[in-house]
Amino acid sequence: MARYEIPQTMKACVLTGPNAFEIREDVPVPVPGPEEVLCRIGGVAICGSDPGVFDGHLAGEWPPSYPFIAGHEWAGRVVALGEGVTKFRVGDRVAGEAHKGCGHCRMCLEGRYTLCLNYGKPDAGHRHYGFITQGAYAQYCVFHVKSCTPLPDEISYREAAMCDTGGVALHGVEIAGIIPGSTVAVIGPGPIGMMAMKLAKALGAARVIVVGRGSRLASAQRLGCDDAVDFTKADPVQAVRLLTDGLGVDACLECSGANGTVSQAVRMCRKGGHAVLLGVPAVEHDEPIPFKYIAHNEIMLSGSRANPNVGWKLLNMIKAGSISVKEMVTHTFPLEEMAKAMDVFVGRKENVMKVVIYPNGGEQA
Ligand SMILES: [Zn+2]
Ligand SMILES: [Zn+2]
Repeated sequence: MARYEIPQTMKACVLTGPNAFEIREDVPVPVPGPEEVLCRIGGVAICGSDPGVFDGHLAGEWPPSYPFIAGHEWAGRVVALGEGVTKFRVGDRVAGEAHKGCGHCRMCLEGRYTLCLNYGKPDAGHRHYGFITQGAYAQYCVFHVKSCTPLPDEISYREAAMCDTGGVALHGVEIAGIIPGSTVAVIGPGPIGMMAMKLAKALGAARVIVVGRGSRLASAQRLGCDDAVDFTKADPVQAVRLLTDGLGVDACLECSGANGTVSQAVRMCRKGGHAVLLGVPAVEHDEPIPFKYIAHNEIMLSGSRANPNVGWKLLNMIKAGSISVKEMVTHTFPLEEMAKAMDVFVGRKENVMKVVIYPNGGEQA
């Protein structure tokens, strides 16, 4: 079995308070407990939810306290094993996952562990890496084996860091029940919407209509959507209906979280269609929805949370070439340049889509 020199301390991006972080060199390297592995982080992508964790508006929950290390869209290498680990060997490459359910509540037993009834209770075995549990903006991090998926050698860390975003999209696509030959609308061509579009196509959707605006809508066209609707120029529901002979789409995937889009998603659906909400609004708000339209047309409306049970599927698809994620990562930065990376990501500068941080210098980690 391979052996790796493990230092006592490591470099990490440490949140010290709301809107405050430091790159520290003296953070103790964590020690894996039972069924946990210590991973050297190869690459970690900035998530759309990270700015909210960094700015501290959810402090007390995400993160529960300071100091805290965020980051959950990671891939890396197992460098040490905790007690009782049989799933991995030292040296294995893995892709990570943010959620780890308690494993014994009703939702976990059904495999729906992102809905764990013991959410936020570490004593019950629940983990939410990078939100509640220490995360991956560091050279090393400890993860439960359940949160690690074997990573094929052919897939780079940079690509594997897309497993979270891609997985969120794939879970929504699965809930929508997208079938070959179907017509799909995607609202919001951000990273999740873009992956949802790619996955719908890969699963055989005949036509994917993307609703958005500006440079991201242009990116969706470049990356293969069949029709693009600019909601600043046309009513998006009418436009989608016009493109579908007045029928509406089989499935609509709401990936923006923007105000007013729930009703739009529902009204874009054909009779018996399925609207799935993957987008997360910045703050909770109530939205009017067309009661009679939903009832009389048997529209299904579903929520979709995170990426349960999809990591291996996505990795197999990437490995087989049935989906490509390379062009999704537009920027990479070393951990030391976290402030710059965040600035580019949050400010949507330089046509950014996804940003990957390299805590250990690059792909060779
Ligand atoms: Zn994420
Ligand atoms: Zn549970």
